[in-house]
Amino acid sequence: MTTSGFDLRPNAHPTDAALRETILENPGFGRHFSDHMAHIRWTVDAGWHGHEVRPYGPLTLDPAAAVLHYAQEIFEGIKAYRHADGSVWTFRPEKNAERFRASARRLALPELSDEDFIGSLRALLAQDNAWVPTPASAAEESSLYLRPFMIASETFLGVRPSHEVDYYVIASPAAAYFKGGVDPVSIWLSSHYKRAAPGGTGYAKCGGNYAASLAAQKEAEAHGCAQVAFLDAAENKWIEELGGMNLFFVFKDGRIVTPKLTGTILEGVTRDSILELAKDQGLTPEERHISIDEWRAGAASGEITEVFACGTAAVITPVGELRSEDENIRLKADSGGEVGKRLRKELLDLQYGRSEDTRNWLT
Ligand code: PMP
Repeated sequence: MTTSGFDLRPNAHPTDAALRETILENPGFGRHFSDHMAHIRWTVDAGWHGHEVRPYGPLTLDPAAAVLHYAQEIFEGIKAYRHADGSVWTFRPEKNAERFRASARRLALPELSDEDFIGSLRALLAQDNAWVPTPASAAEESSLYLRPFMIASETFLGVRPSHEVDYYVIASPAAAYFKGGVDPVSIWLSSHYKRAAPGGTGYAKCGGNYAASLAAQKEAEAHGCAQVAFLDAAENKWIEELGGMNLFFVFKDGRIVTPKLTGTILEGVTRDSILELAKDQGLTPEERHISIDEWRAGAASGEITEVFACGTAAVITPVGELRSEDENIRLKADSGGEVGKRLRKELLDLQYGRSEDTRNWLT
């Protein structure tokens, strides 16, 4: 037994320690994986069972497994940070557990308890602790990215919720997400494609949302942009979010605005944390509709002084420019991203244990 009631099947051929250290020096993002994975099985008759930590490796799936045809799948993304004293921490994992259950309900998958979700992270981290990088300095944002996911594994063709489901957690050492570090990124406003529609799956973290965003992402890259910004599907007017991050707009008078949650936007844990931290910094956070016209006008007049994107992977990244087929929107009064930089530092200091965790956000 390992922690939290997970059976341990150790990897008989773990990565050589010297090779692991070489990987951790320059891990990139999502390219290397640790030696183990956590797994829990679910069947309609037995519920959740078979908790284990087993060697990382390929899954055996029948070609008729439901997930391969009907995309009944959800996932999460959360990082483990090593503090200066060597201890390892996750940031607000109960928020990810809650979002995972919301995603599960939307995709007609079984819900996983906080105990099993957080327990699976603990069990995997206990086994693969050595895969959590030790940041050499405060400037280095290395961490172990954890990817919990749940798939419909029953063998059948036909559109109905699967009676068999598997949940896994894999782990991948990570350096900063964007190659350019905190340099401003350009983002592409998709004219043809929508990410989510009312009543759809926008608030769920399901693979299908990301599959549907890839054509727009390709278009963005063809125009030299790192990410896509999506407008709402109903009116083609309101800013929603990026393909993998939420957005914030900083106004000259101290307001900091993020699109409100309408069911078509993913409820980012970083977004929620920034709304809290902004208050401490004397900013006025607002969750409301914000239109592309307001972005254009605010950028031109200097009312909007900063735009930034946020998410677990990239923390906070300034947006330098919004490009589309018709126009390029650039901030007239670029403040140098001071507000984003301050919030970014505050978040990172908390996550890496360099400031006091007064809100009990670390587990
Ligand atoms: N929106 C989308 C579509 C995402 O994929 C992510 C990353 N999970 C986010 C926003 C940011 O969420 P979080 O802060 O929880 O990482």
